[in-house]
Amino acid sequence: MKYVFDFSEGNKEQIALLGGKGANLAEMTKLNLPVPTGFTITTEACLTYLEGQEQLSSEIKIEIQQHIEAMEQRAGKKFGDQLDPLLVSVRSGSKFSMPGMMDTILNLGLNDATVVGLAEKTKNGRFAYDCYRRLLQMFGDVVCGIDKNRFEQQLEFYKSKKNYQLDTEMLEEDWQELVSIYKDIFIEVMQKPFPQDPLDQLYLSVEAVFRSWNNRRAITYRKLHDIPHSLGTAVNIQEMVFGNFGTESGTGVAFTRNPATGEKGIFGEFLINAQGEDVVAGIRTPEPISELAKSMPEVYEEFLKYSDILEKHYKDMQDIEFTIENKKLYILQTRNGKRTAKSTFKICIQLVEEGVITEKEAIHRITPTMITQLLHPVFEPEALEKATIFGKGLPASPGAASGHIYFTAETAKQASDAGEKVILIRQETSPEDIEGMVVSEAIITSRGGMTSHAAVVARGMGVCCVAGCEEVQVDEFLEQAVCNGVTLKKGDEVSVDGTAGKIYLGRIPYVQGDEWALLEKIIGWAKKEMPLGIRANAETPEDIETALKLGADGIGLARTEHMFFGEKRIFEMRKMILSENKKSLIEPLNRLKEYQKDDFKKMFTILEGKPCTIRLLDPPLHEFLPQSEEDISVLATATNRTVTQIKHRIEELHELNPMLGHRGCRLAITTPEIYEMQVAAIIETAIELMQQNTQEKIVPEIMIPLIGSHQEMSWLRARLEKVIQEIFVSKETIITYKLGTMLEIPRACLTAEKITEYADFFSFGTNDLTQLTYGFSRDDSGKFISEYLDRKILPDDPFQHIDEEGVGELMKIAVEKIRGKDRTLKIGVCGEVGGDPQSIHFLNKIGVDYVSCSPYRIPSAILTIAQEKK
Ligand code: PEP
Ligand code: MG
Repeated sequence: MKYVFDFSEGNKEQIALLGGKGANLAEMTKLNLPVPTGFTITTEACLTYLEGQEQLSSEIKIEIQQHIEAMEQRAGKKFGDQLDPLLVSVRSGSKFSMPGMMDTILNLGLNDATVVGLAEKTKNGRFAYDCYRRLLQMFGDVVCGIDKNRFEQQLEFYKSKKNYQLDTEMLEEDWQELVSIYKDIFIEVMQKPFPQDPLDQLYLSVEAVFRSWNNRRAITYRKLHDIPHSLGTAVNIQEMVFGNFGTESGTGVAFTRNPATGEKGIFGEFLINAQGEDVVAGIRTPEPISELAKSMPEVYEEFLKYSDILEKHYKDMQDIEFTIENKKLYILQTRNGKRTAKSTFKICIQLVEEGVITEKEAIHRITPTMITQLLHPVFEPEALEKATIFGKGLPASPGAASGHIYFTAETAKQASDAGEKVILIRQETSPEDIEGMVVSEAIITSRGGMTSHAAVVARGMGVCCVAGCEEVQVDEFLEQAVCNGVTLKKGDEVSVDGTAGKIYLGRIPYVQGDEWALLEKIIGWAKKEMPLGIRANAETPEDIETALKLGADGIGLARTEHMFFGEKRIFEMRKMILSENKKSLIEPLNRLKEYQKDDFKKMFTILEGKPCTIRLLDPPLHEFLPQSEEDISVLATATNRTVTQIKHRIEELHELNPMLGHRGCRLAITTPEIYEMQVAAIIETAIELMQQNTQEKIVPEIMIPLIGSHQEMSWLRARLEKVIQEIFVSKETIITYKLGTMLEIPRACLTAEKITEYADFFSFGTNDLTQLTYGFSRDDSGKFISEYLDRKILPDDPFQHIDEEGVGELMKIAVEKIRGKDRTLKIGVCGEVGGDPQSIHFLNKIGVDYVSCSPYRIPSAILTIAQEKK
């Protein structure tokens, strides 16, 4: 096996073997850029070393020696030569950049004899001894584990003794003296002197860099960034060039575009008369790179030329390290520069406009997380670091906000009306809380998962939300929240990070991420590449408008129950629920029908013929009844009933297992009048709009929830079609419509071919389907899911990311059965996983036609879908 590659042997594709730095050094060598000569010891050598006895094998040592000899020939200098010594740097470089996590040693090859040669040859003794003391310090730290501070303290002590402020004031004799102090530290700590043989120094350094792959900071960094521990690091040995040679030397780092804003143009800094680490370590304040244009204009021009070559070659913004030795420029490293989300968008757009990359390539450079960062506010990083955490929960809806907490929708609304920024905190929310939710900057719940009411509604509104904070005890009666001994009272200020699922004490400043123009461009490109359709889960005019603006093709799920919660509507709804007989249902239903028609008119008008799936009423009726004594008595007076009668009805409707109870199509089978009213409202509105010529063509898609058997579907279809036919007769018009169903009960998936006979389309409700397949309650599973995740019993929260193995298998079966019967029927996904980038790959694979999600998740879903296109 070959363990060592000269820079002239590799290329940029070999990052797994040579590491990012090594592969790019090889690539730049190929491009004939001024790269100091060198070679790379591979990651395989590292793994062999770490797996073996932690000793370099003689095989590897021989290869290293051969490459040193070749390097000597090219450089015209010898390693360990007492007159003109070759010096090298030893630097780590793994497949993924891990800035500052592993180690570097510079000036290797110096010893008591070669330092004299270097001083004479360069006629610069100060420089030579400065190099030597740096080697001692870095070697001591990296190879021997001597605390860096021991060296630093001695330097500081020495400078203060001499009354020096800066390192640059140190003279040759000073560095000489310090070298001898540093050598004493070696003897004191290691009980042996600093190794004088350059080859020994080299082997020991290579071993130390290999070992640094497993130092604590590197392991933590890899865990944090999901980098496998099994990769190992390569080591680059490169001829030293010296930025600390004098005032016509220097070292610096520059980006080819601004990494924070994306603006085009060199952005960076440099230090005159300094060596690599000085820039990073912040010992002296570097100067902006524009200063280089003044002090060394030819060098600056040359640097511009190389950075242009590199950016064009790599087709991306580069982060370049360079050194100038006596006005001669060397490039030491290049890599794709790290940047903010905003800058990523800007740079991608610029590169497409400049013809460097294609639109498709640009789409692949953007991640869903970047879109979230671009659209939602984020806390200022420095402020966040200092903030005190109050509690944690699920990252239910992204964004950042601060405000005063209130425990009921009513008090939140009052405080908001009084001009306060409010955050609603509750055990869980229900549709009744909607007014409080609408005015809140953020929503916190102690119960409920990623598909709980709070999570779904907050995502729909684009408001940040942390749901299911099980560790926080929320007492709505006492109006206090307690977590780990800290008690928050009504009106206290907190900050909520919905992207991370964290709640902090007090106010944290945030930056607004509102970059429509950038997003629009990328979404426009992505929409040309969509193998799957994208629709929105939305029902209010505002949400529908937002959804269309963000790129939705139409509506995949309009939950009509959300339309029954206005003050007047809920009253009619309650009257309907309290009806003693079918006859008394009619009046409140008729009034509700008018409200519904009004809603549908707005929807169809905004949608201008785009597809619109309207789901008929789904929740059990008890959700619409009042709970507090006060509300019950108001209802009693308004409906001419006694409080006892109302309570009796509430008792009758009480559900032990509401999610498994009298809801969805089951409700429609016992009280078909509700769905009949809704269907009439939909069809009549569509006909009226078409007759008034305000809309050319509307094809309403009416969706029945919770179907478990084809008998339910056929029974309801017959009832509803009868209503539709009657409308056609009375309006003397026939329109096209579709009657379909959700697939959210496992039995429906398993018998989908039978249901196909009565359904014109399908949409997977993965929220209920997951609940029923796993037997996990949507509202309560947060309690144990986090522990399941900690113990790796579950890889992910199945309400957040599709459970491919179980729920996904049922979906696959259903799709096959439906397609086997009729290939033309549309199949969508409207559960929360429809907007989850991690799930979209699977959903595309099983062959659904579109996904539907809350408006603010649409852009990242579009991007993910476009990335699916081969
Ligand atoms: C579902 O169950 O996935 C769904 C979309 O319906 P809901 O969340 O309203 O029950
Ligand atoms: Mg459902």
